[in-house]
Amino acid sequence: MGQLDGKVAFITGAARGQGRAHAATLAQHGADIVAVDTTGSRDSMNYDLATSEDLEGTVKEVESTGRRCLSITADVRDTEAIGDAVRRSIDEFGHIDILVANAGIHSMAPLHEMGDDQWQDVIDTNLTGVFKTLRAVAPTMIEQKSGAVVLTSSINGLEGGANYIHYCAAKHGVLGVMRSAALELGPHRIRVNAVCPGVIDTPMTNYQDVYDMMNGGPGGDRSSLEEGATGYGILDGQGALPAQVISDAVLWLVSDQAYAVTGQAIPVDSGHLVQPGFS
Ligand code: NAD
Repeated sequence: MGQLDGKVAFITGAARGQGRAHAATLAQHGADIVAVDTTGSRDSMNYDLATSEDLEGTVKEVESTGRRCLSITADVRDTEAIGDAVRRSIDEFGHIDILVANAGIHSMAPLHEMGDDQWQDVIDTNLTGVFKTLRAVAPTMIEQKSGAVVLTSSINGLEGGANYIHYCAAKHGVLGVMRSAALELGPHRIRVNAVCPGVIDTPMTNYQDVYDMMNGGPGGDRSSLEEGATGYGILDGQGALPAQVISDAVLWLVSDQAYAVTGQAIPVDSGHLVQPGFS
């Protein structure tokens, strides 16, 4: 018996990285999965979004656990597409018990050089997209008078960061959404929390701008991430963390073990945030 047997989890950004790890982990513990993602590239970003092959890979991972997986290509910025995704999920499974609003993007620029489109793409995806996903899923949870929601924020939801002011603004905003939703949805027995990952080893941290940031200037590479992340936390020997550490936190937050936990931002960051003035 898995602790999530009979549950259905709706996960955005599920094609790769943390979202795929969340899908596989919740499935291993008994949940059927709705895996939502989108594809393509954005002019304001210097790395690509997931591919349809990535999303298919998530389906295979979930199905290898014996659970069902409905994959849906939808953009979290698109109210109609996310509404359709929720309706298709309910048609397929009858209910949604767990929401992990994880889809997100990253880009970098000094604030005085940041274009309107760069600011807007990150706010629209990382903040408004999280709100739109929560808004679309909430009615079915309210109707069934139960649900567990995890929104993906970041340590940048709790501290600033140089050269990605839009990302920090969005991730701080996610915590406002989380706390307000916890207040509104608590009376309906729906818990709402956030995870605040530190440096996680996914495509979002494996592109040139992040390598250069970790290098302290141009010319960074994969080893810059590996070395830079090692100095990020306070736990000896921990660098860029595997996505699984976030999935394990998500699993606990959506499980009955966390039945009394709501309105909380949970950092999983090797202790990074207790270092005063790190940034
Ligand atoms: P990732 O790039 O591997 O995964 C993000 C996923 O979101 C991709 O599959 C992408 O296609 C999808 N996505 C992006 N825009 C979308 C949209 N508009 N609609 C639907 N799907 C969309 O990176 P990741 O590290 O797995 O990121 C997952 C979450 O964790 C993000 O919210 C990110 O901001 C957050 N986060 C990441 C780190 C890190 O160090 N990697 C740290 C803190 C927080």
